[in-house]
Amino acid sequence: MSELRWHPLLRQWVAVAANRQDRPQMPQNWCPFDPGSGRVPDDYDVYLYPNDFPAFSEEYPPFSPETDLFHATGARGTQDVVLYSPDHNLQPSQLTVEQWLKVIGLWTRRSIELFAISDVQYVQVFENTGVAIGVTMPHPHGQIYGFPFLPPFVETELRSASDYEKEKKRCIYCHILTHELEAGSRVVSENGSFVAFLPFFGRFPTEMQICARRHFQKLADMTEDEKNDLASLMRTVRRKYDNLYGFPMPLMMMVRQSPAKGDHPYFHFHIDFLPIQRSQKKLKYLAGIESGCGTFLNDTRAEEQAAILRGTPG
Ligand SMILES: [Zn+2]
Ligand SMILES: [Zn+2]
Repeated sequence: MSELRWHPLLRQWVAVAANRQDRPQMPQNWCPFDPGSGRVPDDYDVYLYPNDFPAFSEEYPPFSPETDLFHATGARGTQDVVLYSPDHNLQPSQLTVEQWLKVIGLWTRRSIELFAISDVQYVQVFENTGVAIGVTMPHPHGQIYGFPFLPPFVETELRSASDYEKEKKRCIYCHILTHELEAGSRVVSENGSFVAFLPFFGRFPTEMQICARRHFQKLADMTEDEKNDLASLMRTVRRKYDNLYGFPMPLMMMVRQSPAKGDHPYFHFHIDFLPIQRSQKKLKYLAGIESGCGTFLNDTRAEEQAAILRGTPG
């Protein structure tokens, strides 16, 4: 069981998941995600695996957003693991376009299910990759959280986009994308439906965004052509990242869609890639200024990194 505690100074929820400390050490030569493990089907392409030690679960008491001091509430939500492939040793950058298409299909189907659950306010599809990020399981996988509240960065981003729409009468993401396409210096790769660029304001080294050309809000809004184009660009981006320094790039990938409840026409679907490798030999650590102040020091310039990535095989 885990619970949510309100941080009254930073005004955000902290998931206190006592049970996660009890996670057993996995046997060295056994992977629960492998066909034949008894935990997954013997034959699968992509697979949704319920997290064995979730911070958020439908079994937990309901979330009630009371923010009194010393108040804890239920962490009712969902937490799944998305297996990208039955092949234990495959890197995400080695997935074919067809396989990415299956992964995107699974993200979409699960998002639609979670949007319909009354306890779920936000569906976060994401991936942590690399030992440097703290991922111990090499099997290619991502995760999906169904949050019972809007996480703080999501809330801030929604407010920014909503305010921009009200003040300037246009979508902030469309505006940024138009500018990036005109400037060109930070664009890495593009196709008919999506553009990959390094944001001017990126916080992480070689941070990248895949932004939809068309203004839409969520995975379920994508046309078949858009799904194909996203799968294709996903493969290109992941290959470029892993070819940049000649080894798999440790990174976090965040698929940003509109909240599960309500209408959010000002929001615009995109995917953020947050790598932590700042050079071939050096990692970026989130130290005092980043973790303690929330201000990021980025050791790379988007324009220079974009130029290098454009010339990197994808
Ligand atoms: Zn495995
Ligand atoms: Zn837009």
